[in-house]
Amino acid sequence: MQEKPYFCPNCRSNRVKFALLETTSTFFMKDAINGSVSEMGEPQLIEEADPQVQCMVCRFVGNELRFVKQAEREPRTETTVASAYR
Ligand SMILES: [Zn+2]
Repeated sequence: MQEKPYFCPNCRSNRVKFALLETTSTFFMKDAINGSVSEMGEPQLIEEADPQVQCMVCRFVGNELRFVKQAEREPRTETTVASAYR
């Protein structure tokens, strides 16, 4: 995962709540006659260069890069609160 700001390219309202979708591979042995699973291994994480990210506001799923690029296009600007007391 990249240490960069995200911005959902779909709803364009979420920069903070996301889910990382990971792909796992699980080894298993199957009986050739009746199809029953005889052995099941531990799930192994498949490292991907481009992980899938889900927006937890609109549930949109896309490559991490799309979220990073959207944040670069529309960066979060620091909002300065004008003080009434001077
Ligand atoms: Zn969204």
